[in-house]
Amino acid sequence: MKVLIKNGYIVSMATEIHKGDILIEDDRISRIGMIECDVDKVIDATNKIVMPGLINAHTHVGMSLFRGYSDESELMEWLSKKIWPVENNMTKSDVYHASLLSGIEMIKSGTTTFNDHYFYEEETARAAELLGLRAILARAIISSEEEAIKRIAEAEELYNNWHNKCDGRIKVCVGLHAPYTCPPDTMKMGVKLADRLGTPIHIHYLETRDEVKQMREMYNMTSTEYLKKAGVFNYHVMLAHGVQVDADSLETLKDISGGIIHNPISNQKLGSGIADIKKLRDNGINVALGTDGQGSTNTLDMFEEIKSAAYLQKVLYNSATALSAEDVIKMATIEGAKVLGIDSEVGSLEEGKKADIIIIDTNKPHLCPLHNIYSLLAYSVNGADVQTSIIDGKVVMEDRKITSIDEEDVMRDCRRIVESLFRK
Ligand SMILES: [Zn+2]
Repeated sequence: MKVLIKNGYIVSMATEIHKGDILIEDDRISRIGMIECDVDKVIDATNKIVMPGLINAHTHVGMSLFRGYSDESELMEWLSKKIWPVENNMTKSDVYHASLLSGIEMIKSGTTTFNDHYFYEEETARAAELLGLRAILARAIISSEEEAIKRIAEAEELYNNWHNKCDGRIKVCVGLHAPYTCPPDTMKMGVKLADRLGTPIHIHYLETRDEVKQMREMYNMTSTEYLKKAGVFNYHVMLAHGVQVDADSLETLKDISGGIIHNPISNQKLGSGIADIKKLRDNGINVALGTDGQGSTNTLDMFEEIKSAAYLQKVLYNSATALSAEDVIKMATIEGAKVLGIDSEVGSLEEGKKADIIIIDTNKPHLCPLHNIYSLLAYSVNGADVQTSIIDGKVVMEDRKITSIDEEDVMRDCRRIVESLFRK
């Protein structure tokens, strides 16, 4: 199958922005330039921006059913009183439908890859398979003894059943919940599993001041010291949040493989604080962007996170130059791919790489005029401006229509599930 995207503004994240065409052959970008050849399908991108699909580097897509359920709570209280009691009643089918809803939401707002951490992840895998999304999935490992052992076994089963499936679109890694919810024995089992399977580790890290305090009380250590002692930093590690990074932690982070995932809206909404992204990046640490789950973020629109990330650094530093439009777009694309360890395949538009591409229509009042494309992308575009989405060379959304499934059916199923789930 050959697809030719004609005459777009190409924001490749590897070269300067230029006008041109992109030829896709099967799952890969085969040529970028001015191209004339016979193809199966032509997409006219005149007056449109053609860029890498966005990478949502930390989320819990099974949480879409929690959107708007409990908005004003502190993290610990929110988890223990609101989220965990409902999650205990969720079935596999609930997680499947919730994942479909999130998947549609992601595709319709420009995300092509997501990095997920939840339970019943095989259901999220099935949803990603159907919708054509690229995903890295982790069964969340939490708690101690019997419960942790059970979850470790489920994580390994997930790996055996889904790793590298769907032409390699789906990958599985080890997901430890957080330093304060995983006792030393659980950490040890998780690290051993990552070692045995050869996968990265995805974990919540230094999200709140409460975490810092709790770790001091429980172990007389920082979360960084705790993870270091457990051997987590010997592996490729995807650290969600990093709001409370102190000077010693920063030194440790300089040497890791992987990076921090910044979730600016979740951090603001839960009152967790402002991660010092500028300092991390100035010290050579890769920073990706994520949404977190819809329980704490409400939407999975990465363009909202992009805006928010840029604005928050400007507020933190009292400086309009603290984080540029171009840098924040990097975080949502190529830098995100580096944090996830998949930058050789996705994150930029280059010949030979996977064809994960989004096309944004600029012929709209709020996107006119066009002085600077990075500025437009960071500060003016929203998810609904994404017109067409291609993942692994397949058109998964065309002119705003999802090609694999009827989105009305999915919304109807989710409304029905919520009726019973939240009244059990
Ligand atoms: Zn999270």
